[in-house]
Amino acid sequence: MSFFPASIENLVDKLASLPGIGTKSAQRLAFHLLSLPEGEAEAIAETLLTARRSIRRCRVCQNLTDSEVCPICENGRRDRGTICVVSEPKDVLAIERAREYTGVYHVLHGVISPMKRIGPDDLALRELVGRIAEGGVGEVIMATNPDPEGETTASYISRLLSPYEVKVTRLAYGVPVGSSLEFADDATLTRALEGRQEY
Ligand SMILES: [Zn+2]
Repeated sequence: MSFFPASIENLVDKLASLPGIGTKSAQRLAFHLLSLPEGEAEAIAETLLTARRSIRRCRVCQNLTDSEVCPICENGRRDRGTICVVSEPKDVLAIERAREYTGVYHVLHGVISPMKRIGPDDLALRELVGRIAEGGVGEVIMATNPDPEGETTASYISRLLSPYEVKVTRLAYGVPVGSSLEFADDATLTRALEGRQEY
């Protein structure tokens, strides 16, 4: 038997399905949200929906943006000859935070994972190859996480790009293998970029 009405249970379930939110946190959030004045609760719901509806993938790098081309791709001061390949939009934020990288990005939206039945066709690879085939790119930096799926994805892409005249490098991680890019501190990410090695 449940302690709460179904509508509260549903809210707790939905919140608990978010990354990093356990049942206890979900309950705390749910009760907080329900204690807000109706107008504030509406504002949160509206903000979420507006963001969701206006967000799309950048035509060039596939990062999430609310315009056709994202601000990084639009920025004339960024070096378009260097593409840093990451698995998720949050990894772009992690690298940008380190303020060291001046090139552009390509967001794959996932990594190859036989366990989760995610294959190369599920990633934004066609768009990446298209960018390389257009020419003008001198280096592709593979910045997928240093875990087995990230390594598999990085080496798959380096093979995929081998017919093209482009240098493919891999971040030299100072972070433990199996760790995640988003949790690396700025100094570690800067060292990882500086120490990148060619495939
Ligand atoms: Zn972009």
